Amino acid sequence: MKYSETIRPMRAAVHLTPLIASPPQERGAIFLDRDGVINALRPGHVTGWTAFQFLPGALEAIRRLTLLDLPIVVATNQSAVGRGLLSADGLAEIHRRMVARVELAGGRIDLVVHCPHTPEDECLCRKPESGLFHDVAARLNLKLSESYFVGDTPSDLGAARRLGMTFVLVRSGLGAASLAQQPALAGQVDGLADTIAEASRWILEQEGAVVEARAERQAG
Ligand SMILES: [Zn+2]
Repeated sequence: MKYSETIRPMRAAVHLTPLIASPPQERGAIFLDRDGVINALRPGHVTGWTAFQFLPGALEAIRRLTLLDLPIVVATNQSAVGRGLLSADGLAEIHRRMVARVELAGGRIDLVVHCPHTPEDECLCRKPESGLFHDVAARLNLKLSESYFVGDTPSDLGAARRLGMTFVLVRSGLGAASLAQQPALAGQVDGLADTIAEASRWILEQEGAVVEARAERQAG
């Protein structure tokens, strides 16, 4: 079993065509973890759409991120597949519905990638390993060191640090418990936010600063 793309919406494929055809560029993407960031963490695995529950403000946060002209990618560990609790098709169906709901709210997700393995598989794509991100970077022609990553666990942070991504830790999901167990985490992240809503506002502020700096360089 290889890490895999579970969905690439038609609209997004059209949106991404110019990106893939263009020469190497400096642009990054916005990576979002799924469980605990976009949807509410629950005991056990999400093995069906009925168990998927958007966190308050998550849909609006993704809509807001869509205002930036950057690919939005969900990167998630889904060992439920490797454990035989959920089929690849079942996971793809959950992601199709998630993307459709985001679009209904005016947002966009360009790509969802997942690692289907269990920790015992010792694969190269289960976060904090970086396989998922290298794969997306190659396909979308991204610069990972210019990318953002919003996650709730030390394993998300580990992947981000390894790749030089700007990392925002959210307290939702496992974030608050992770911070309580490892207070030093706060000093290792670029941004701390209560929720994806706050994280999205922080990213928009950062990008505003980036755009201004570029305009100044061009003017000067
Ligand atoms: Zn994997």
